[in-house]
Amino acid sequence: MSSEHSPAQTTSLLDSLRWEKFPVLDDGFVTLVDVMGDDASVVQAARVSYGEGTRKVSDDRQLIRYLLRQAHTTPFEMAEVKFLVRVPMDCWRQWVRHRTANINEYSTRYSLAIDSMQSTGNDSWRSQATSNRQGSDGFLKDNDGHPLTQSEQELQSLARKVYEERLQAGIAREQARKDLPLSTYTEAYWKIDLHNLLHFLALRMDSHAQLEIRKYAETIGYEIIAKLFPLCWEAFLDYRVHAMRLTQLDRGVIHRLASSGKTLPASREDFNVAQDQSWVSLERCRERDECFGKLASLGLVTES
Ligand SMILES: Cc1cc2nc3c(=O)[nH]c(=O)nc-3n(C[C@H](O)[C@H](O)[C@H](O)COP(=O)(O)OP(=O)(O)OC[C@H]3O[C@@H](n4cnc5c(N)ncnc54)[C@H](O)[C@@H]3O)c2cc1C
Repeated sequence: MSSEHSPAQTTSLLDSLRWEKFPVLDDGFVTLVDVMGDDASVVQAARVSYGEGTRKVSDDRQLIRYLLRQAHTTPFEMAEVKFLVRVPMDCWRQWVRHRTANINEYSTRYSLAIDSMQSTGNDSWRSQATSNRQGSDGFLKDNDGHPLTQSEQELQSLARKVYEERLQAGIAREQARKDLPLSTYTEAYWKIDLHNLLHFLALRMDSHAQLEIRKYAETIGYEIIAKLFPLCWEAFLDYRVHAMRLTQLDRGVIHRLASSGKTLPASREDFNVAQDQSWVSLERCRERDECFGKLASLGLVTES
């Protein structure tokens, strides 16, 4: 067993978590169905390759942290987690891109489509980001969102009505469903090993991921995985979520700034002088912006 949980504690933790519905969005949820393994399973698998000798010098926590830091991934594949999730179809479309999971999804050929669509509150409409073509940036004012919410409700009601009329007319469910909106909720069992789950969470908890799937990822991570795998979770936060990757070009900028004798934090002007030569002639350069962002978060540069 892991040093964090005794067998009895693990059983009662599992009993309390299993089938608890963690709500996400307006009518979605994440539910833990089953788990195979815990922190100890990762440690046990690793010790097969590292040998008994390591037991004395490295406790479970240190070993897990070493494995995660050094990307020794296979021990994390020894644990598996199965969820039942209810997700709007547009969000699910992003979710299923993660090919390393096993999925069984509710069939709308076989059964009636779930009579629930994700609705957007007056204050939840997001503006198109200007800096990133893929993302959003801030929310519309409450009043501006009101007509959008109203037309969304009308559209969803009409789509459901048309769907049900088709079924009444004897149309096959597989065809009747074709005009249901992507906001329609679907449900699926989703099973994945811990290594690939952490990969999913790293991508989908990131600020670049769409807000909706981010909420699912954060719920899975903080409500379930943090409790089931506390040592792996701690290492994951330290070495993946809150870690920063510095490229060779980033390191060059830091080196030039550090050796310039400037007082830190350096100004935007100092940063521009220290920037990589390949960026200099570019008016817009995403890599330069990313580098500035990294250095700003480290307190090495400032806009002023
Ligand atoms: C912020 C964000 C924006 C995105 N935007 C887009 C977009 O605009 N358009 C788009 O189409 N997708 C987009 N995606 C999806 C993205 O390209 C990936 O398909 C998705 O994140 C799954 O990642 P993955 O392949 O690493 O994960 P998984 O499918 O879970 O695979 C895990 C790992 O297994 C390995 N692997 C799995 N299958 C194979 C294979 N067949 N061959 C080789 N190695 C394999 C890879 O190492 C992979 O990293 C976006 C994802 C994110 C997070």
